[in-house]
Amino acid sequence: MRSPIRLLSIDFDGTLVSRVTEPVFNSQCMELIRELQDAGAIWAINTGRSVDLLETGLAEFALPIRPDFILTTERDVFRPGRDSEKWEPFGDWNQRCARDHADLLSSAGSVLAEFVDFVTNQTKARLIYNSEGLEGLAAESEEEMDRITDFIRRARAGHPKLDYQRNGIYLRFCHADYHKGATLAELARLLDVARENIFAAGDHHNDVSMLDGRFAAMPSCPANAIPEVQNAVSNAGGYIAQKDHGAGVHEALLHFTNGDL
Ligand SMILES: [Mg+2]
Repeated sequence: MRSPIRLLSIDFDGTLVSRVTEPVFNSQCMELIRELQDAGAIWAINTGRSVDLLETGLAEFALPIRPDFILTTERDVFRPGRDSEKWEPFGDWNQRCARDHADLLSSAGSVLAEFVDFVTNQTKARLIYNSEGLEGLAAESEEEMDRITDFIRRARAGHPKLDYQRNGIYLRFCHADYHKGATLAELARLLDVARENIFAAGDHHNDVSMLDGRFAAMPSCPANAIPEVQNAVSNAGGYIAQKDHGAGVHEALLHFTNGDL
C-alpha cells in the first residue's frame, strides 16, 4: 500500500453526505473510500449522531459501502459486533466516558441550573434532555447560538471540565476530555495507527478537535466548511477543498493519496 492513509475519520452530515445535493453522497468519493478499504485502510465515520440516528442515516441515504468503525455523539467508539449488523463498544472507553459525564453532570449542577434559567428566560432555544438529564439544546438560529455559547463560556469559568460541542443550531454538553479528536485518538490507539497515517474531514465547530493537527496529520474540509474549520485546517497545514461535501472529501483524498492507493 503506497498511500500514507491507514485510517480515515470522516464527519457524516455536511461532509460525507448533504441533503442539498442529489444524490446525497458523491459516488466517486464512495468509490475511492472503497478502494482505500480494499488496500487495507480503515474507514471510520466520526459524527455527532447517535448509533441509532447514524444507522437511520446510512439506510435512508443508501450508502453503497459500510464504515469499519463508527465514532458517535462526538464521544463513543464502536466496532462491528459478531453478527456484523449491530455495533458494540470497542474497549472500555465508552464506559469511562459515561462515568466521567455522570460525574460532571452532578458536579456542575449549579452552572447547568444557571444555564437552564438563561435559556428559558432569554432565548427561544429548546432544551434537550435524555435519561441522564440535560443533554443540550437546539437554538432558533446561528446568531442565537452565538449568544448562548458566549453565556456558557462565561458561566463555565469555575468548571473547566464542562465543555460543549456545537454543530449548526445544535449544542451538546460534554466533558472537556471527550470530543471527536480524543475519540479518534482512542480508535487510533486501539488499532495501532500513527497520527501521520490519519486522514480527517469535517465541516463544523464540532469537527475542529479532529482537524487541528493534534490527532490527524492529514486534516481536510470541503469548501462548505465554516470559516473556523477552514482556519483550523489551514493552520494545521491541511487541505481545503474547492468542492463542497463529498466531492470535496474526494478531492482531499486525491490530494493526500496522490492517486496512489
Ligand atoms: Mg457536519
